[in-house]
Formats: sequence, C-alpha cells, structure tokens
Amino acid sequence: MILLIYLFAIITSANAINFEEFFLDKTMRFDYFHTGNANEEHFAFDEIVCDGIWAGSKTKLIDELRLGYYFFEIIDPESEEIIYSRGFASIYGEWETTRDAKENWGVYHESVRFPWPKKNVKLILYKRNLHNTFDIVWEYSINTEAYRVNPAEIKNFYNVFPVVENGDPEDMVDIVILGEGYTKDEMDKFHKDAEHYAEVLLSTEPFASRKDKFNIRAVETPSPNNGVNHPHQDIYKRSALSVSYGAFNSERYALAFDNKKIRNATSAVPYDFTVILMNDSIYGGGGIYRLYITAAADNAFYDYLFVHEFGHHFAGLADEYYTSATAYDMTSDIIEPWELNVTAHPDKETIKWKELLTPGTPVPTPWEKEKYDKYSIEIQKKRREMRKAKTPESIMEKFFIDKRKWDNELLGNMKYSGCVGAFEGAMYMSEGMYRSAPNCIMFTRYDKFCPACERAINLVIDQYTK
Ligand SMILES: [Zn+2]
Repeated sequence: MILLIYLFAIITSANAINFEEFFLDKTMRFDYFHTGNANEEHFAFDEIVCDGIWAGSKTKLIDELRLGYYFFEIIDPESEEIIYSRGFASIYGEWETTRDAKENWGVYHESVRFPWPKKNVKLILYKRNLHNTFDIVWEYSINTEAYRVNPAEIKNFYNVFPVVENGDPEDMVDIVILGEGYTKDEMDKFHKDAEHYAEVLLSTEPFASRKDKFNIRAVETPSPNNGVNHPHQDIYKRSALSVSYGAFNSERYALAFDNKKIRNATSAVPYDFTVILMNDSIYGGGGIYRLYITAAADNAFYDYLFVHEFGHHFAGLADEYYTSATAYDMTSDIIEPWELNVTAHPDKETIKWKELLTPGTPVPTPWEKEKYDKYSIEIQKKRREMRKAKTPESIMEKFFIDKRKWDNELLGNMKYSGCVGAFEGAMYMSEGMYRSAPNCIMFTRYDKFCPACERAINLVIDQYTK
C-alpha cells in the first residue's frame, strides 16, 4: 500500500507541471564540454542555442523510466520543483572505461536539450555510481539573459525531405535521419536508403503496431567523398559529419565526435532521436542511448543493424550477447543493471519482467547453452582468422548468414523456445546475467525483439506520444 501511494505521488507530481507556466514552445540546447580521465571528471559550459520548436511531449516532462548512465534535471529555483528530466548516455561514458582514459585526458562536446525556460533555472547532472544509483556530478545555474545564450530562431539551410509524417511533433516520436559519406550526386540513393530505414524500423514490432505515432524526416548532409573513414582497413576519408569506423580502436564500431556539427544538422527539423546512415558496405555501426545511431547502409545485414542499434539509442537496451568463455570466474556480486532487458536476479517473484513470464516456465530457464557456447567458440575462432586474413566482405557475409541460420534453428526449437523466462548469458557475461527469451535482435542477428525489449520500447514510445 505504501508503495502504491508513493507511486501515485510521483505520477501526480509529474502530471502537475504545466508546460505553459514554465516553458516557451522552443528547444533550448545546452552545449558543454565533458573532460577527465579514469579518475576524475569535469564539466564546462560552452553555449546555449535555440534548436527550433519543442518536439518532445508537453505533458510527459518528467522521465520516470530513469534509464541511462547519465541523467539531468531542470529545476525551478524558486519552488525547487523538478520541471523537466531525462536520462541519457554519452561517448564520454564509454570512453572513460577504455585503456586510453587510464593514460590520457579526453574531452568530448555534449548537449542536453529541454524546452526553453521562461525564467532562470538550474541544471543538475547525475551519473551512475557503483550501486547503479545516481550521484550529482555537476550543477549549473542558467541565466536565460546571459551573453552566451543565443535565442535566435533557427534558419534552416539544409535540404530536408519528409519520409513519414503523421502529426504534430509534440504528439509523435520524431526521428531525424542524416547521411554520411553520400556525395552531392548520391542524394537519390540517400533518399532511398532513408526510406528503406523507415520501412524496416516501422515493420518491426513493437514499432509496427504503433507506426502512426512516428514522424521521420531526412536532412541532406553531402560529403566530399563517397564512403566513410576506416583506419583499420587503411581506407582514409574525410566526410561531412566526422563519422569514422574504429572508434575506441574497435574495428566495426563507428562513431562521430563532432557533436556541434551533428546537432546543427539535426536541428534542421524537429527531432527526438537521430539516425546517421553511412553510405558504406563494410559491416559496422553503433548506438548510444538518446545520442544517435550509426549504421552501414549497404551490407547484407543492414536490416538487422538498423534495428539493433536503434534499440540501444531509443530504449537504452543492453546487448544481450556474450562471449562464450570456457571458464568464468564469478569473483564478485553483480549489480543489477539499469537496462530493462537484462537482469542479474532471476527470481520469479521479483524479476523486472515478472508480469511477462510464461506460466509454468522454470526461472532460471534451461536452454541448450552448452551446445550454443561450443558452436560460438568455434565461430569466434574462425572469424578471427578470416579477419586477420582480410577476407573479402562478401565471404564474411556468407559466413554470418550461415551462423544466423544455425542460431535460429537451435534457439527456435528448444523446450522453452516460445516462453518468457530467464535465460542465462547476456550483456557480455556468460554467467550471472539473464535475458527474457532465447533469441532477440539484441542477442543474435535475429529479426524480432524479445518481450522484455518490446516492453521497454513501448514505454519510451509512451513518453513521446499522447
Ligand atoms: Zn531483447
């Protein structure tokens, strides 16, 4: 009962915020620098600009999902009321875990966006601690009259074309698509790729059932060269948005580091989420919660890649795959992850997707893990050899198509294949971490989300729509 009252209090306080009382119908983009190393972290204000009309919901201003590695709140200093909040993740948050951060300092440009406040407000930035709860890492008082606050209305000078339009931005999920590595002469191809992206996303559940809740618009950002930079393959390019494969020295991980350039292009249209299509055939991409995705548009697996990366970006979904290890040392307690599709606590009574469990399914749920792991280890070995030998992409594709077939056959024909339970092996951990179903777009190159992922996506759609 106490819990119910508490929940009710949160919901009523969230609903009580009157958009018109606190905000104008435009977007404030708060730009800042995020710097540090493995031991310390600092922030410095850059500037504030106007990003056009407000595309987010005007009623769901408080983020009750609280996903993401970082979180920010906008506070009305007079009443100390939280008037807007959102969780997010950043490139910095990934970089600080790399070896580079142990040896060097790094600096990353970032933005948080919220409706334009009518009066001065305070921004509070939080970060997850070792217990996965949030600690304050920065506070900044925003003076809306300050000289580094630029309220100028945005004047779009990019070519923009609508892909899907269903209604007012404040009632819809608004996705913007940018193109990277498309020359001026390849804009027709960019249009086709953007249309294909929209088609693939909106035919995958749960997006498909709610496709009338989406607007998708594309912004042309032509590059001087065709294709994207690949330092690991000795293919060097300079492109419009600075996207490059090889992020954090990982061959297939593609990120762009020029935040301001990307933000200036995305704000050509009202947006909540960002997709960067790479005009490239080499398999790769990336997705960061509420920052953007990158995805190669010309690979045999682009359909899978588009949706998988969007799962990270849209709903903060964790990767469900893991590296099969012959031995795994459980040295410490695993903290429950904040992601909604993985858990360290496979307990029938308390598991985070409890209401989705299939009656009669044991938890944890038995599956053919030994068989799967044995095959995966062989595959990883072969893959390493092929990559080392610089095997052509078409042969690699065939190899992965065979692997997908094998995965689908095994995972689709087990005793608990159609059931929701807790299947061990998720989030890069062979043991101690669980997923809700045997297969998922976040686990293998499959074409469907598992029920836990579907539920998370639906909760985010709810946050941006009426
Ligand atoms: Zn899943």
